Amino acid sequence: MDIPFLNLTQQQLLEKHLYPRITEEKKTYIVTANPEIVMKAKENEKYKGMVKQADFIIPDGTGIVMASKLIKQPIQERVAGFDLMTHLIGYAEDQQLSCFFLGASEEVSKKMVERLKTLHPYLHIAGRHHGFFELEDRTVIEEVLDSRPDLIFVALGSPRQEEWITKYFNEFDKGLFMGVGGSFDVIAGEVKRAPKLWVNLQLEWLYRTIKQPFRWKRILKVFEFMFRIILKKY
Ligand code: UDP
Repeated sequence: MDIPFLNLTQQQLLEKHLYPRITEEKKTYIVTANPEIVMKAKENEKYKGMVKQADFIIPDGTGIVMASKLIKQPIQERVAGFDLMTHLIGYAEDQQLSCFFLGASEEVSKKMVERLKTLHPYLHIAGRHHGFFELEDRTVIEEVLDSRPDLIFVALGSPRQEEWITKYFNEFDKGLFMGVGGSFDVIAGEVKRAPKLWVNLQLEWLYRTIKQPFRWKRILKVFEFMFRIILKKY
């Protein structure tokens, strides 16, 4: 479907690419893509362009890994955006790098930062801002630029997070930018991640739908994606 997915393990991605790029202050843009995002890109050329500008498109979804096997281009493993983000936060704390957290509601954003301060007492938090603003609003981008963060986690949901990153990427001279969807809600404790058993059974998507039933429409897109793969109707 014209989305070039990364085919490395999370460890390989971190060690071969992300850690060196962060050290060299080489700008990096990461998209965490699941079947929904692939479908969104299929339906919207402009959005697809934004996704394809990424340096790394990581397979964040069992559906992607299953599809890769069905089309005989197997991806080694699912790299969950949430796990990658938490690894990077740990790395930032160790290496004294600063992080900006952009997105989610004001309440979640505040709670998440408080939680991070407990989990990572030495983490340098360059700043935070809630995610309910106009993308054109320069006050937000100025705040992020002024704080000169090394890592910028953007939790505005798709497509807004990819829109924000691609709109402002060129204004930065360093930084790793990563769209992280609903991850701040998980750190803040507002949304629970699926228990390990569900993840191991590759049913995290089902768990999320049961817990957040308003997502059911999104699941239809995942089914459409799988059907297209099975019927070879890319
Ligand atoms: N969000 C935001 N601004 C918006 C829309 C959404 O900050 O204009 C936040 C929302 O509060 C949530 C995250 O973006 O924290 C999106 O979560 P979702 O679970 O929908 O992410 P996805 O499934 O797209 O990864």
